[in-house]
Order: sequence, then structure tokens, then C-alpha cells
Amino acid sequence: MLKFLGRGSAFTDEHNSAYFIANDELVLIDCPMSAFSRLNDKNLALFDHIYVLVTHTHGDHVGGIGMLIDLLQFSVKTPITVVAPSKEVEADMFYLLTRIEGCNSSWYELISVEDLDKEWFVCSIPTVHTEELAGKCFGYCLNIEGNRTVYTGDTNTVIPFEKYLERGTYLYTEISAYKSSVHLYCSDMVPKIKEYVSNGIKVFLMHMDDEKRIAQVMKDTGAEFAPLEQSGATLEDNGRMLRGVFEITDSLYKDMCMNNSRDHALLFTYITDLGKTIVDADRASFWRWDKRNGKIWTMSATGVDRIVIPDNTGLVGKALRLKKTVITNDPYSDPDFNKEIDLETGYTTKSVLVLPVADINGDFIGALQLINKNDNIGFDDETDPKKLSLAALVCGIALESETFLEESHHDRLTGLRNRMGFYFDFAGKHRDYLIPDSGKTMSVFISDIDKFKSVNDTYGHNAGDDVLRFTAGLLESFCGENESVYRWGGEEFVMVMRDTDLDGAVRKAEEIRLKLMNSVIEADGNIISCTMSFGCALFDPSKTIEENISCADEKLYTAKETGRNRVCFE
Ligand code: GH3
Ligand code: MG
Ligand code: MG
Repeated sequence: MLKFLGRGSAFTDEHNSAYFIANDELVLIDCPMSAFSRLNDKNLALFDHIYVLVTHTHGDHVGGIGMLIDLLQFSVKTPITVVAPSKEVEADMFYLLTRIEGCNSSWYELISVEDLDKEWFVCSIPTVHTEELAGKCFGYCLNIEGNRTVYTGDTNTVIPFEKYLERGTYLYTEISAYKSSVHLYCSDMVPKIKEYVSNGIKVFLMHMDDEKRIAQVMKDTGAEFAPLEQSGATLEDNGRMLRGVFEITDSLYKDMCMNNSRDHALLFTYITDLGKTIVDADRASFWRWDKRNGKIWTMSATGVDRIVIPDNTGLVGKALRLKKTVITNDPYSDPDFNKEIDLETGYTTKSVLVLPVADINGDFIGALQLINKNDNIGFDDETDPKKLSLAALVCGIALESETFLEESHHDRLTGLRNRMGFYFDFAGKHRDYLIPDSGKTMSVFISDIDKFKSVNDTYGHNAGDDVLRFTAGLLESFCGENESVYRWGGEEFVMVMRDTDLDGAVRKAEEIRLKLMNSVIEADGNIISCTMSFGCALFDPSKTIEENISCADEKLYTAKETGRNRVCFE
């Protein structure tokens, strides 16, 4: 198909000009000045060669070609061939181009169609625009991506083109809203165009002087306007979208870097919002893949609840399974789409895009999902994934860091938080208790399994591991909202008790001591019982964290020295 850099007549602000790309070569049909300005934005260096097919030489057509030749010569360096539709026009072009100052004839190749040998070229078609220009106006018959394509150029008749029209032909015809002797008048053309369309010809209208009027007259003919390259997003839309993107990234930066926020969920909220803004969708969510449990989950729109589903269901599951982007603009007829949520909430899903997200090793760990593109057409499988790629990548990196952080704060054997988790919490949920004179009270104990070495020695290391797991579970079962327990190292554990005085800590330690003493532990096929000693201390904010733990540790030492299986305190 042809794409149009402009589809207006010479008297409008965007002049008629079309292009197609074949085998890394760019083929332009005419290049008026307005088309040159638009071409200038394209990366012309990516093309191996540029061809310009000239339809006629009058008006503004030569200046745009001259500018393009200059641009290619001085900046882009892509070779260009100007193709004239006849020997006579070739001579005209030679005359005109060589007289444009700064357009040296060695900077371009000028040929006529007789010397053009390209698989996409069929022939030029002489036509009549005005009597004065007889023999100087041409259209083209081309073969673009296997489709016969007929382009009329400026003409006041369709007769020369009709012999090239067959079922399936793409006909790009000029049309005018006004009756004159130089153009095809739209009202006169209605029956012809209806006839073409009914014969299976795809008719596109171009070179228009008044689109509104032409649209009205042509509305029942089946003809379409030639597709403008920029249709879809206008500059204004792009500007609005970019402002939205910058607002989000600015808030993200400020919240994550300037406010000391430790809330990772916020990062995902921002990034999914970013994706939503970039492709103009109604909803966005980020799904994490919990491979161990065969689940995928996301936070709900309110951010409070988790939505958890099996990982072999839904379009997110499908994208993770197939390891590729999934797009549907008709979700209700996709068997993988989960209609239940729509039925429950009354929401209508019209289009879905899921981009699976990998970690640094290329293993998929989650997916970015966008719902309902706000244009009622749906997601484009080429442009939308491209636009979302950075947001998806950031989600992947963020999830991977979060996973690493979580894992580094946990002990693999017992599942308890470890010493790194302990310090992390002192910068987070215990932070306020470190401030002297805050009026807040906190206590700690450190505990150590008695004669644990002999468990290993007698029953083996696996049995020792089971005892550690059992003890950790028991300690954890004594943790309420105010308590946090950590594996300090080996068979030593630390419990931090917020809003708890020394008395409370001693009571808690005593309860745990008794519970463990009276437990029978199944350890690698053996039935074992064991005891634990405790040292308790009231947390003193004027001392360092380490000094506080040392205080408790001194009491633990006393407990060990005075017979074990006991709780000692300051
Ligand atoms: P005490 O009553 O004085 O605390 O004596 P204890 O035997 O418990 O103390 P000691 O420090 O002599 O021995 C602790 C043992 O804990 C030694 C070490 O091999 C064992 N241990 C440390 N970490 C692990 C672990 O992850 N798994 C197992 N099975 N044993 C561990
Ligand atoms: Mg020990
Ligand atoms: Mg011990």
C-alpha cells in the first residue's frame, strides 16, 4: 500500500505525495516542498537508495526534489535516482534541475522510465490535465507487495487508467470538490467510483482541495481517503502524551529518590501508569509470577488486595507460557481470556496487550498488562509493544531487585529474616524506637539452643536442621504485630518487641522457653526434645543497636553459666 506524506492539491497546505518501501529502497511519487519537510524527519540514511517518480514538472514539484538532492548530498549520503515518466519530461527535468543553484548534476541520477528496471515498476501512463500541458502529465501503474497499484497523478480524465484496472487493483485517484476542466469533479465521479468498487477495485482519494465536501459527496461510494502517514497520532496528541510521561517520571523520581520512600509497590504503580499513558490505555497492571506455587498475582486497582490466579490461566498466563507478547482486540472470543472478572464487575474488556517480562538471565518473571486502548480500534502489534518496551524492562529490573532484596533478607533454612533483614527493619519499622526521648519502649531478647552441638553429634546434621526449623517456627508462632524474630546466626535467635517493656519481654521469653521444653521434635526420624536459654534487655536508644544486643547477650551468657534453660535479664 502507498502511504501519503500529503494528499492535498497544490492549493492546500499539504501537497500530494506518496511513498512505499521495497527491499530497503524508498520510492517516492513526487516530492513537493511540503513532502520534503516531512521526509526530513525520517531516517533516510536507513535506505539503500531513493527513487523519485515524477508525474509532472509544473508548480512546486521541482523545488522539493532539488532540496532532497541537497539533503542527501550534504548530510544523509543515500544515492537518489530521479525517474521521469517520458524522454520529454526527462529533458525538462534536466533543464530545471541543472538550473537550481546548488544542485549539481553529479549529485543525482536522472533517467526516464525506459531505463528503469525494477520489479515494482509496470509503466507510466500518459494522461491529460490541461491542454497546455498535453504530453507532460503522467500517472503510474506499479506492482507494490504483489498488488497492482494505479496512481493517476493530476488528471481530468480516468480513461487512460481504466485498462489497467482489474479486480484487486489499488486505485489512487485525484479528485476535486470543484467543477473545472483540469480535475476530476467529485459529483461527476460518484457513479464511476461506485462501479469500480463493485468490481473489486479498492479506491483511494487523493490530491483533494476540500476534504469535507469530498467526504460528503463520496460517502456512499465505498472509496476511502488515501492513508496519511501521520493518521492516528497528531502532534498535539503526542505533546499531551509526552507531558503525561514527564509528569509521571518526575513524580516517580521525587517519590523514590527524594522522599526516602521504601515502598516498592509505589514503583510498580508508577511504571504501570507510565505504560498506560504511553499507549493511551484505560487500565494497566503488573503481574508477578510465583513459579514455586504455580501462581501469578497482582495488586488490585485499589492497591490493597492481591489478585491471585493459577499461572496456566488468563492472557497473562498465555503470554508467560508462549514467552511472547499477546494481543487481542476481541478478547471475548479468545478462549484464554478470563471473562469472570468482567461478569462480576460489569467492566467490558475490548482489547488486551500482555508483554512478558524477563530477568537479567532471560527467564520470565512477570508481565505488564494493558487493557482497553482508548481509540476503540485496539492495540497495534507493531507499534504498541515497542512503545511499552522500556516500561516493561523497568518493571523486570525492579521486580528482580525486589526479589534479590527479599531473598537476601531471609535465611533459607528456617525462612526467618536474617541479620540483614534485622538491620533493614531497624531502618524501617523499628526506626522510630531508635530516637532518644521519643517516649517509645522496645525490648529485645537473644536466645540460644542449649547443647545444640550434641544434637548434631548424636543424630546428625539433618536432625540438627530439623530442630532449627522447628524452633524457628515456634518462635514465629509467638510473634504478633509488635514482634519480629530473626535468625541471628547458628542456633541463636533475636526477638525485637515493640511497645513492650522488660517485664513483657521476660514473660514472652518464659512462655517460649516452656513451650520448647515441653515439645517433642521429630528430627530426621528421631524424637528429640531440647531447651533454650534467653537473655533479655530493655532497648536503650542512647546506645547503638550492637551495644543493646551485647547487653542481652551478657544476660544470655549468665543464663548459660547458671545452668541453661532459663531466662535472665538486666
Ligand atoms: P551451648 O548450650 O553452650 O549453646 O552449647 P551448644 O552446643 O549449643 O553451642 P556450640 O556453639 O558449641 O555449638 C553450636 C552448634 O550449632 C555448632 C554448629 O555446628 C551448629 N550449627 C550452627 N548452624 C547450624 C545449622 O545450620 N545446622 C546445623 N545442623 N547445625 C548448625
Ligand atoms: Mg551458640
Ligand atoms: Mg547453643
